[in-house]
Amino acid sequence: AKATLGQRMCLFEPGLLARHTEAVELDQDLDQALVQGQFELHYQPKVALESGRIVSFEALLRWQHPSRGWVPPGQFIPRAEASGSIIAIGDLVLREACRQARRWRDAGWPDLTVAVNLSTVQLYQADLMARVQWALSEAGLPAEALELELTETGLMEDMDAAADILEHLRALGVRLSVDDFGTGYSSLAYLRRFPVHALKLDARFVKDLESSDEAEMIANAVLALAESLSLDCVAEGVETEAQADWLRARGCGQAQGYLFARPMPADQCESLLAHEYVT
Ligand code: C2E
Ligand code: CA
Ligand code: CA
Ligand code: CA
Repeated sequence: AKATLGQRMCLFEPGLLARHTEAVELDQDLDQALVQGQFELHYQPKVALESGRIVSFEALLRWQHPSRGWVPPGQFIPRAEASGSIIAIGDLVLREACRQARRWRDAGWPDLTVAVNLSTVQLYQADLMARVQWALSEAGLPAEALELELTETGLMEDMDAAADILEHLRALGVRLSVDDFGTGYSSLAYLRRFPVHALKLDARFVKDLESSDEAEMIANAVLALAESLSLDCVAEGVETEAQADWLRARGCGQAQGYLFARPMPADQCESLLAHEYVT
């Protein structure tokens, strides 16, 4: 029995226990983070490719951990989704982003909108509508000033339920966009069921535009799909002029990426807005 146990033990990687302990610690720290106000929102502009004007800001969550420093969302959001704390965290994001949009609109940019990433867990939460309505009314923000970004894979998890939820959100007046589009094998047939306003072309295709025929083919297909459904297309992760030119030439309406601006604290957005054009 000892030998068997020994062999079984050997199957574990040496780092596994350490990583498990770290994950458990991260979960506990996440609960603390909310109470202690360690979350902050940064904002990245969406730019109209023709005019170079900023049309919207996407809120991106940042966690300043007391000992680990800055923890990227890709690391802690999956944990928060697994533990359920994403509901409270997502609510915080929604409310703060709405308040920030109100401030910008009052400060002289009355048409500016704000985009909030919605976790799939939030999307299927029974009281989503009430939470969205509350965030808007608390901030005194009209619904059309808020855009919700839903991932393609999240929408495909339960297409019937998702179509229903999107109908309700749309009726409320908020804008809807499909995030990371191109990664989830969507078809025209299913997209037609979702009353969304925009598709966000996933950054991986933009990144490989110049080097990969496949990326170029997918980007072309997404743009054609958006066109045929009269949806806006927003390209993510635009880093070079060549990428921006390629997208502009094919009628892509908006873009985001380091070429224009990195995500930044709200006060820096104001000075960017003051310059009005980012290109
Ligand atoms: P996403 O929604 O696809 O956001 C775009 C990500 O790409 C952001 O990473 C952004 O900083 C990064 N990015 C923007 N432009 C460029 C570029 O030109 N080059 C490169 N290499 N990257 C660029 P970030 O902020 O680390 O967020 C990662 C993901 O975490 C987001 O992907 C989103 O899925 C999730 N996330 C962030 N904030 C929230 C939130 O408040 N709620 C939820 N549920 N998810 C969030
Ligand atoms: Ca997004
Ligand atoms: Ca995205
Ligand atoms: Ca992405």
